[in-house]
Amino acid sequence: MHELSIAQNIIRIINSSVEKEKLGLADKIYLKVGRLSNILTESLLFCFNSAIENTPLQNSELAIEIVPIKIQCNDCNQISATDDFIFTCPSCNGSSITVIGGDELVISSIHLKDESEYIK
Ligand SMILES: [Zn+2]
Repeated sequence: MHELSIAQNIIRIINSSVEKEKLGLADKIYLKVGRLSNILTESLLFCFNSAIENTPLQNSELAIEIVPIKIQCNDCNQISATDDFIFTCPSCNGSSITVIGGDELVISSIHLKDESEYIK
């Protein structure tokens, strides 16, 4: 299952970025997921929540932000964001488009209770 390995990966990253004795304080994990990454967020949340059961991270919550697809026009170089899969340039209507973003999967920050934000 795709989402399960992603959830395990996220947990691995949290474990390596937060000091061990502070893991229990992690309350919000901010995740950026590109619309093109093909991740089922509900399934990812489910996998994450079951993977952290009975671990120091059990009170943490995954906050998923969906990042739009970013395209660049090959004719006028305009960069724009789109939420659908119709790739035309909003500026010149050109259809020669390069996709330059929207497939990312990154932890943008980890928030600890009563602490400052940890930026990844
Ligand atoms: Zn254009």
